[in-house]
Amino acid sequence: MKKEIVIIGGGFAGINLAKRLANTKGIHVTLVDKNNYNFFPPLLYQVATGFLEVSNICYPFRKLFHYKKNISFRLGELQKIVQDENKVVLSTGELSYHYLVLATGTESNFFGIENIRKAALPMKTVDDAIEMRNYLLQKTEDATIATDETEKKKLTTIVIAGGGPTGVEIAGMLAEMRKNILEKDYPELKGIKVCIYLVDAAPTLLTPMSKEAQQYAYGTLIKMGVDVKLNKLVKDYIDDTVIFADGEKIPTKMLLWTAGVTSKVFEGIPKECYGRGRRLLVDEYNKVQGTQNIYAIGDTSLQTSDKNFPQGHPQLAQVAIQHGKNLAKNFKAMVSRQNQKPFAYNDKGSMAIIGRSKAAADIPKPKMRINGFIAWIMWLFVHLFSLINYRNRIKTMYNWTVAYFTKDQSLRMIIRPGIKS
Ligand SMILES: Cc1cc2nc3c(=O)[nH]c(=O)nc-3n(C[C@H](O)[C@H](O)[C@H](O)COP(=O)(O)OP(=O)(O)OC[C@H]3O[C@@H](n4cnc5c(N)ncnc54)[C@H](O)[C@@H]3O)c2cc1C
Repeated sequence: MKKEIVIIGGGFAGINLAKRLANTKGIHVTLVDKNNYNFFPPLLYQVATGFLEVSNICYPFRKLFHYKKNISFRLGELQKIVQDENKVVLSTGELSYHYLVLATGTESNFFGIENIRKAALPMKTVDDAIEMRNYLLQKTEDATIATDETEKKKLTTIVIAGGGPTGVEIAGMLAEMRKNILEKDYPELKGIKVCIYLVDAAPTLLTPMSKEAQQYAYGTLIKMGVDVKLNKLVKDYIDDTVIFADGEKIPTKMLLWTAGVTSKVFEGIPKECYGRGRRLLVDEYNKVQGTQNIYAIGDTSLQTSDKNFPQGHPQLAQVAIQHGKNLAKNFKAMVSRQNQKPFAYNDKGSMAIIGRSKAAADIPKPKMRINGFIAWIMWLFVHLFSLINYRNRIKTMYNWTVAYFTKDQSLRMIIRPGIKS
């Protein structure tokens, strides 16, 4: 009898697992996702700022699984796991499994601040990126007709909370748009100072990266006219005003939230199975602690068995990809009754882009810190070749080439699809 493997989540981890189990004898895979497409989070900020089209960074699962006879796709959201019956309850029905794999990633963490959850703009999903693009464009339109000076100021001030790679990348992109595009698109705003703040509670930007990368990002953003505020903890967002723990306030209608993520908690998994950041505690084979046949991979898992990462791995695409690949090998080993391989992360380094020809890269082997044009070229190639297939790579390459030569794009449309019930 074929083993039924149900994978919840088709991000980096889930899709790499599914792809490597394709056409494997003795295994059938059902991939469940709440969206009908895979997407590439590292380039969401370019969708949010109108530099890439959605279709550049997304690809439909069903098309991806053409000719992969042992893989099915189910659109649906995981609601509950019934361990005794080996089944999952989805928003679209139920599925039985021999093995269950949770690869659900993370969601934005608003640290329990309800006003921020309601009014700030997160950037975790494609929906978030489209919403952010529409919102930024709409508020800039509003600024062109605002007659009240206080209102106009709020409409032309952007606060980005979170100085990790996403915050740095979006701050840099907005600073370049302010320089190259703003006055051409909005001549009504000529002479108005659009303020961009990047704030973080930590004493540095890009906290997980090297000192060289942190200083380079800080210095470059300052030169680009971004107001970087460190050691600044956002406490609340009331009446269009960001309030910091030290009492300082910044009035703005645009609070972009890239300050943190947290994993999801699912009914049916006991609370002892969750560790730091609500991540599922897993052993060296990614099996969830205290369960028989449930696995977790990618951002949603916390694995402390890797001797080089005793505190767990960073929540990065490479960890998720390698988790997916290793678990696929182990499932194949299980069906052919061979030994499984414990997971060991091969750290390929980290990068952040700050602007045109400006990026920072930390390479672990051989240890190198590269900043500037070379790091930027590396960033472009790594991201281009990490896209899911050749169509997305060609379209993205085309869009980037146009943007490089014109310092502009033509995707700044406010498109709000209506919803029919
Ligand atoms: C804006 C942004 C920029 C980033 N930039 C970088 C970068 O430059 N480099 C880097 O290494 N990492 C980057 N990351 C982190 C990287 O994207 C994650 O580490 C990686 O996506 C984790 O992969 P995953 O498969 O665990 O989760 P994800 O890729 O998040 O995939 C989770 C999948 O699960 C689905 N899902 C979630 N909940 C449910 C549910 N209840 N039911 C059904 N389906 C569900 C989602 O739709 C999604 O398809 C970035 C992240 C973000 C948000």
